[in-house]
Amino acid sequence: MKLTDLNRHGEIGANSMFVQLGDFNILIDSGLHPKKLGYDALPDFEPIENLHLDLIVLTHCHLDHLGSMPIVTAHNPKTPVITAAPNVTLAPRMLRNSINVMKRQREEHGIAEYPLFLHRDVAQFTKQLTIQRYGRGEIYTKGKDKVEVVLHCSGHVAGAAAVELIHQDRRVVFSGDVLFDAQRTLPGAELPTGPVDTLVLETTRGAQGRELKNSRNEEIERLIDQIAAILERGGSCLIPVFALGRMQELFRIIYEARQSGRLPQSPIHAAGLGMAICEYFDKIRKQTQLVDFDIKMLETMDVRNIDLNMRPGRDLPRKGIYLVSSGMMVEHTPSYKVAASLLPHPNNGLCFVGYCDPDSPGGQLLAARDEATFFFDALDYNAPIRASIDQFDLSGHADRSELLAYAEQSVARAIVLTHGDQNARDWFSQELTARMPESTIVDPEPLTEYHI
Ligand SMILES: [Zn+2]
Ligand SMILES: [Zn+2]
Repeated sequence: MKLTDLNRHGEIGANSMFVQLGDFNILIDSGLHPKKLGYDALPDFEPIENLHLDLIVLTHCHLDHLGSMPIVTAHNPKTPVITAAPNVTLAPRMLRNSINVMKRQREEHGIAEYPLFLHRDVAQFTKQLTIQRYGRGEIYTKGKDKVEVVLHCSGHVAGAAAVELIHQDRRVVFSGDVLFDAQRTLPGAELPTGPVDTLVLETTRGAQGRELKNSRNEEIERLIDQIAAILERGGSCLIPVFALGRMQELFRIIYEARQSGRLPQSPIHAAGLGMAICEYFDKIRKQTQLVDFDIKMLETMDVRNIDLNMRPGRDLPRKGIYLVSSGMMVEHTPSYKVAASLLPHPNNGLCFVGYCDPDSPGGQLLAARDEATFFFDALDYNAPIRASIDQFDLSGHADRSELLAYAEQSVARAIVLTHGDQNARDWFSQELTARMPESTIVDPEPLTEYHI
């Protein structure tokens, strides 16, 4: 087997792994780097430019895995894109939203190459989507060669899959993004068990131990208490969320906390892509039962469209819970604007519920939360920090100890590290080398072909 990581910047970046297995050319994911702009955000397609891909697999619809798929399918218009059923609904919506964002960025930042693809490329990509059920193998043939593809539920987000490729007597497993814990809207991962030949393992949380910290449920309890405290003191509560997955789970958490009397009724301000995805989740529930999200729940919750005509520093005109993207409070997004209004007022509170990249405004605000002020660069506004700022660990990724245990039981001959910052990969590299001395641990250099 030959394996090349096309994610040119390493890190979590623009995920895309090119695998040559027997006669098959297979691409797993093709994302966009969340922090880069223009061509620099793409995977480096050079190794696959002049060849035909036989199979493409989409593990899930976060843009770091999906965001550049239409470019790949434009070059491979006959190749099936194998994926789980929910992604047929979610992927086109995420990509269309991404085109709109790129068009806006073209205007704002003068990035001439944006958008990187067009709506017709999304339509072409959508045509190629080929649904496969979790746990059911599908055999593909090429000449005399054949490969079996099996998708396994990987938790994480609706439609997320780990990918198992079976070629001759070799099993290769790509973990995808994994969460073993069940979420309020989704069951946890059920990954294939060992022995496998090669395991490509995500390492997102390699730099953070949870060993001494709370469980996911304890974190949810702590979050509910904090939201209740903020509302009780007459403040508004901002929860920056990812539009796909975390927003729907938060609706569920708030709904259930109200049912049990732990949270008072108060308006929830939300808008945009996340609300559209609520409707898609409801549709997916009806069609596949793969998510547990009923849109009727929102009808009882006083959900209001957010008015973003707010002025930095002036308190939010409408009290309540603000459930808005982006999760990392990226510039120009609703959560960034809401934070600039909410932060100077001591009754208010900000609750981060997921991972914030240290370079993102959310990450910078968390690092500066004990300081007097925070500068909102994109608004040219220096805000006094008077609202409370807390972080809750509702990550969509498995703990490093869980992934380590999974890797150990796989008794894989080779383990390839992916989807993590360098310090996260280093931790896995060290631990796996110590615990699995028989195995080869590879932290792949981008664009280098490995014979495994
Ligand atoms: Zn993901
Ligand atoms: Zn990811």
